[in-house]
Amino acid sequence: MNQPPISLSQASCQDDYDPNSMSVEAARTLIHRFLKPVEGYEQVSIRQGLNRILAKEIISPLDVPAHVNSAMDGYAVRHADLDAKTPASLHVIGSSFAGHPYSAAVSAGECVRIMTGGVMPKGTDTVVIQEKVRLEGSHITVGTAPKKGDNVREKGEDLRQGQVVLASGHMIRPADLGLLASLGINEIRVFRRLRVAFFSTGDELRSIGTPLEEGQIYDSNRYTLYGMLKRLDVDILDMGVVEDAPKALEEALIEASTCADVILTSGGVSVGEADFIRDLLQKLGEVVFWKIAMKPGRPLAYGKIGPAHFFGLPGNPVSVMVTFYQFVQQAIKVLMGQTNLAAPPTFRLPCLSPLKKAPGRTEFQRGILVQDDQGNWAVQATGAQGSGILRSMSDANCFIILPEAQGHVAAGDMVEIQLLEGIV
Ligand code: AMP
Ligand code: MG
Repeated sequence: MNQPPISLSQASCQDDYDPNSMSVEAARTLIHRFLKPVEGYEQVSIRQGLNRILAKEIISPLDVPAHVNSAMDGYAVRHADLDAKTPASLHVIGSSFAGHPYSAAVSAGECVRIMTGGVMPKGTDTVVIQEKVRLEGSHITVGTAPKKGDNVREKGEDLRQGQVVLASGHMIRPADLGLLASLGINEIRVFRRLRVAFFSTGDELRSIGTPLEEGQIYDSNRYTLYGMLKRLDVDILDMGVVEDAPKALEEALIEASTCADVILTSGGVSVGEADFIRDLLQKLGEVVFWKIAMKPGRPLAYGKIGPAHFFGLPGNPVSVMVTFYQFVQQAIKVLMGQTNLAAPPTFRLPCLSPLKKAPGRTEFQRGILVQDDQGNWAVQATGAQGSGILRSMSDANCFIILPEAQGHVAAGDMVEIQLLEGIV
């Protein structure tokens, strides 16, 4: 993925380039060679920065914690006093609570009542937790001595002043909002929002709200695309349904390329329809069509129309989602400015359902994670796996990824799964 950018015509001359049977990995790698982050930045308040990509690294303006402080409720002591004589009796001369430090120095034989977050008074170096002392009047008795420095948080132990806290290209998550706030930072520089336009093609498609006539279906792809894009926090331009006619498609593509960074279409790339859109795209820009060795989602087009990146997704509702998650999502993240993008992790689990699978293509079947009585996880298929059966995506919480060489899966065999949901 770190090779230099090349043109689409160069790409089609590569050794491993086979437009009629491209492997998932080769197609991904090739697409990534055309991607570079958008140029354009914004200064936003940290809350508005949630889910945005940092365009300038964050340097810590201070040490965190700013003071040496206590990690526990107890007594701040001089460790030398405990070394000399145990059990030791110490005089409690004051208190240091979070936000209310004890400002005088502590001498031999003395200690200070301290609460979590309280600043360690001058002269003290160790905290004895309250459960380990006996308090009588203004004296405590410490039975067994803790190690020097126990229960003390050092100044700068979390972050040092001048240290890079968050790198440019990092996506801001809830923990980062707290981290930035803890440093007193209220504004950050982020990449501008990516603009993504999409439309559906197909004369059979109707928008919801209109009655269906024979042979017509509701357009669902614009809704799944909307949902998937919304999660990425991009600006969305829904261009509706465009009829399967060269003039209408040409106008829609030109309009999209003038206002969007990414254009997504669904439908019109399968055998029979592909030539039609291919000619058009060749006229307007540069495009490669692939038959990817995968199921679902075999036909996929990628190219450039002016500065815009074009992804021609298949029309089948499940194929749209699978190709989006397997190709478009990561590409959009790169364009948004995100760096250090690792592929979403996969895990190996026993599969409870037998699966039909032909060698020669990667399959992304839809799965549901289940737990047995002992709490061990396994996966089962959602049921019928046809690429038009959108319910399989709705029921699923993971993909079952079956690699190219794999044949049928017997119940109990180990399979690779990829989670659809994350925590944060
Ligand atoms: P296509 O790739 O255009 O040949 O479409 C493949 C299948 O997906 C056909 O059954 C289409 O009717 C269906 N399809 C295409 N676009 C949509 C859409 N936007 N919503 C729902 N189904 C679609
Ligand atoms: Mg169609």
